[in-house]
Amino acid sequence: MTSYDDFARTPGGAILMNGSLLRDEIVAGIRAEIDALGNPAVCLATVLVGSDEPSRIYVRAKHKKAAEAGLVSRNIELRETATQGEVEAAVQDLVDDVDVHGILVQLPLPGGLDPEPVIDLIPPEKDVDGLTERSMGRLVRGRPGHVGCTPRGVMALLRRYGVETSGRRAVVIGRSTLVGLPQVLLLGRKGCDTTVTLAHSRTTDLAGVCREADIIVAAAGMARLVTADFVKPGAAVVDVGVSRTESGIVGDVDFAAVQEIAGAITPMPGGTGPMTIASLLENTLDAARLLGAVPA
Ligand code: NAP
Repeated sequence: MTSYDDFARTPGGAILMNGSLLRDEIVAGIRAEIDALGNPAVCLATVLVGSDEPSRIYVRAKHKKAAEAGLVSRNIELRETATQGEVEAAVQDLVDDVDVHGILVQLPLPGGLDPEPVIDLIPPEKDVDGLTERSMGRLVRGRPGHVGCTPRGVMALLRRYGVETSGRRAVVIGRSTLVGLPQVLLLGRKGCDTTVTLAHSRTTDLAGVCREADIIVAAAGMARLVTADFVKPGAAVVDVGVSRTESGIVGDVDFAAVQEIAGAITPMPGGTGPMTIASLLENTLDAARLLGAVPA
């Protein structure tokens, strides 16, 4: 086990919570587990509709890492003009296919398509994105099921880099069902035991609220929203946001300024993005276990 002193640090002295390194550790661990099980065909299926370039890049990255982890993967591609019925039929085929263990529908769908009935088709065992009502319900009830990939990845980063959570205060910025809400539930649940504040666009004095926190998870999608004056000295700062600006992809955290004050910080890129993929692969192996395709 790496000691706290062994972690790489930023120029300002914060521990760098390196998601690419941790993803590689997780991928290698899944590969070893699949090998030890005699190489069962654990299968992740993705559904990609239309030609949105970032979505295509995300899906390609997921398949590349799935292959490295020893998983089998399938990508169902539908054209931009696919009807609601065609998308639902493609997902239903994967639901019915006993050789498919995890299903991920890449969002957003092209305009005119309603994602809700599509997502609703996925049974909780195969819902490796943790997005359906039943998966969210299981998370709330503390029952076994899949947790959204990004919040799961954030929890793994905090654990791996020795960030104390019990009795600490956290602020999650953003209340989406994809990131913010499940993140609040994970941080606040028994065993993690953080006291959590959920902040959003109507929060007054966001900087003051964040300054109270030992852990900040920024998932607002607002470029460099979290500046140095948001951060208590020594706090852990996790950047989830992704904004495409003229100067490239930018996170929610002003990294250069915040790393001078924080005790630990994620880079962007190389923080939560790779961890989202790692968690998807972990969820897929869990799905095969839940479905009885590999031993629990
Ligand atoms: P979303 O559905 O648009 O939710 C954004 C949330 O942030 C909303 O709750 C919104 O508040 C809040 N917010 C917006 N501006 C704010 C401000 N100025 N101050 C405080 N709160 C503010 O987005 P999402 O799907 O959760 O994604 C959030 C970001 O994470 C996006 O940039 C997305 O691209 C990125 N993302 C990254 C990964 C990854 O792997 N790193 C994965 C998923 C998403 P209201 O509810 O009041 O509107």
